[in-house]
Amino acid sequence: MALVARVLIANRGEIAVRVIRACRDLGVEAVAVYSEADEASLHTELADRALPIGKAPARASYLRPDAIVEAAVEAGCDAVHPGYGFLAEDPRLPAACAQAGIAFVGPPEDVMRAVGDKVTARAAAERAGVPVVPGTGRLSEASAAVAAAEEIGFPVLLTASAGGGGRGIRRVEGAADLPGAFAQATAEAEAAFGDGGLFVEKLIERPRHVEVQVLADDHGAVIHLFERDCSVQRRKQKLVEEAPAPGLTDELRTGLCDAAVALAREVGYRGAGTAEFLVDVAAGAFYFIEMNARIQVEHGITELVCGVDLVTEQLRAASGLELSVAQEDVVPRGSAFEFRINAEDPDNRFMPSPGTITGWHAPGGPGVRVDSGVETGRAVVPYYDSLVAKLMVWGATREEAIARGRRALDELTVEGIKTTRDLHRRLLDWDELLAGECSTESLERWLEGA
Ligand code: ADP
Ligand code: ADP
Ligand code: MG
Repeated sequence: MALVARVLIANRGEIAVRVIRACRDLGVEAVAVYSEADEASLHTELADRALPIGKAPARASYLRPDAIVEAAVEAGCDAVHPGYGFLAEDPRLPAACAQAGIAFVGPPEDVMRAVGDKVTARAAAERAGVPVVPGTGRLSEASAAVAAAEEIGFPVLLTASAGGGGRGIRRVEGAADLPGAFAQATAEAEAAFGDGGLFVEKLIERPRHVEVQVLADDHGAVIHLFERDCSVQRRKQKLVEEAPAPGLTDELRTGLCDAAVALAREVGYRGAGTAEFLVDVAAGAFYFIEMNARIQVEHGITELVCGVDLVTEQLRAASGLELSVAQEDVVPRGSAFEFRINAEDPDNRFMPSPGTITGWHAPGGPGVRVDSGVETGRAVVPYYDSLVAKLMVWGATREEAIARGRRALDELTVEGIKTTRDLHRRLLDWDELLAGECSTESLERWLEGA
């Protein structure tokens, strides 16, 4: 078996650049695709070759599995890497790749279906002996949701099985609100995800979001690369992540990591994936919420603490090769943070802030890594996700990582658009974050008071 030779990257922005870099390191050719809005983008320029894929709206370009696979065939690619978002969790992409005889960098279609749907993923977790948030299967009637919610106890969450990116999760306070919420959520999920399926789950109060990175190959290896804490969220979207999760007991950490491996084994996982959990640190309890069958935005902090390149491992697994690391080789060192640099205005309800970047200076120096899809002179276009770059820092201790985070954020300059930079800098002076005690509700409370 050999590594794939030419990879089509079905994505844009910083993650397309990240995958191109892994290809370069491995001597693999990288082929980009771009929409009409991305002709002059960094990922298009850095790739060995770039093919147009359609008009600016994602539905007319990056979200078309047929067009992606057609481009891959045209360019003579033997693999497709989906990045995250867009098609990364669309089972039609591995299906179309299989039909064209092209390797898909991710799990096989049936595995993606099993874990991509939150209801079937919860069932797989239960089979694997992994605790899940108390809740129901897929519900077709509001009356069933009311009965289930009364048993679980209000408030509850009404969640779309196909949801993602923080969308499709709704808090319901009492039985009177549920039928209306059910109808609205069904319609919204149908419109957003093409699947109106809903379930009810218990609302866990002030939990921490802790997730475990896994890697698996076709030779029976399933390993974990420890955990990331992603509790600093607004609107259920992550803003700051850190590894390792602060304040976990060894017992809790081992429990989480073993659970993620058990789930990946149960579903026959291949490649890089993440099992997400809510954690009640005081009670020493954790609950599985979902599995992301792809590389995650925040994968870089795991790379910094574990010294493993997750994207090259993905490419190995997709090539049918063995992972280059065994479980005992994964020894985490120090502490890392990621700050998502979004083209958004934190002072105006995080409204997107597209425009041309007239000045960009990325920090460097010890312990600093910047994964960016932009630079001076490039445009942030309004059609896609507002994440433009990720600033990551590593330190031998959590304190050193935080000090480097302050230094790096001070050095980062972005002109021409509004970003989350200044907010991140303020967050690094916030007691709750410094103490490592944030729950998923902390940032919104802090923002309300700030
Ligand atoms: P991560 O933990 O990797 O950030 P997210 O769930 O935030 O995971 O998703 C990563 C990216 O994919 C984000 O850009 C998010 O907006 C997008 N995304 C994930 N799932 C969906 C979905 N079902 N529909 C639309 N966008 C999604
Ligand atoms: P997505 O697919 O959008 O990433 P997740 O299931 O991962 O959805 O949930 C996103 C976030 O929503 C979690 O990180 C957490 O903050 C919140 N959340 C999800 N389920 C629950 C729950 N049962 N109780 C409390 N918060 C929850
Ligand atoms: Mg999630």
